[in-house]
Amino acid sequence: MDLGIKGKRAVICASSKGLGLGCARALAGAGVDVVMNARGADALEAAATAIRAEFDVSVTTVAADITSDAGRARVIAAAGAVDILVNNAGGPPPGLWQDWDRDDFIKALDANMLAPIAMIKQLVPAMMARGWGRVVNITSQSVKAPIPQLGLSNAARTGLTGYVAGTSRQVAEKGVIMNNLLPGIHDTDRATALDGGVMEREGITMEEARARRTATIPARRYGTAEEFGATCAFLCSQHAGFIVGQNILLDGGATNATI
Ligand code: NAP
Repeated sequence: MDLGIKGKRAVICASSKGLGLGCARALAGAGVDVVMNARGADALEAAATAIRAEFDVSVTTVAADITSDAGRARVIAAAGAVDILVNNAGGPPPGLWQDWDRDDFIKALDANMLAPIAMIKQLVPAMMARGWGRVVNITSQSVKAPIPQLGLSNAARTGLTGYVAGTSRQVAEKGVIMNNLLPGIHDTDRATALDGGVMEREGITMEEARARRTATIPARRYGTAEEFGATCAFLCSQHAGFIVGQNILLDGGATNATI
């Protein structure tokens, strides 16, 4: 399917690895020029070099912390006039509900709620003025069904979801389409880190931790960054113009809900 976005320009936050990289690769595959970001310059440059070699698009990199004002300012300056924004950042640490203090919540809110909102506020007005734009926020399955050990994620991402629910319906008339993608478990470094926590807590091997988690997923496997990226690229495509303010779950059926 031709996604109809060849020649557009996208900024994909937190995209040297994992789901963000999957989105950057899928958008580049659709002919979109990409601005990629992560804190670590080495992995970022390696990912950008691979995309340049594979796809005929321009790739700009900005090594910066997207959760800081200064980092976002550098990304926005390099991005220029972008048509597509993919919001992403690292996820908060696991723990139990009594564990977290104000500072822990502020960090989680900064990364998983306020940073994406700041990017939206900076980039969406120009999209509206041009009459076309796409915003995809990478959130989590935890928005639909809370994950007990990820209370910081449950809280911060739900705040972003509420903001997007209201905002998406105010910008759609100007051609800016905003939605959220909710990953369940995907085979990335983040999943390895979470499984590592289970391994230590339960005194089991990594294979056992992974097998236990796989058994809870109707699809009986972890998702891939490639299929996640393809869904993101579709939400950024011309065909997604009537999908407004939705929360699309990519979890292999793990969330047991009728709608
Ligand atoms: P990942 O494999 O650990 O990759 C994270 C990427 O984000 C890396 O490129 C990392 O590079 C970059 N990054 C992290 N913090 C950043 C920051 N402050 N500024 C700029 N870049 C940053 O994680 P993932 O699995 O792709 O997950 C992406 C998001 O989806 C996370 O919020 C995660 O919690 C959420 N999620 C993931 C899953 C899953 O199963 N994978 C499930 C539900 C939700 P640097 O470290 O070099 O900055």
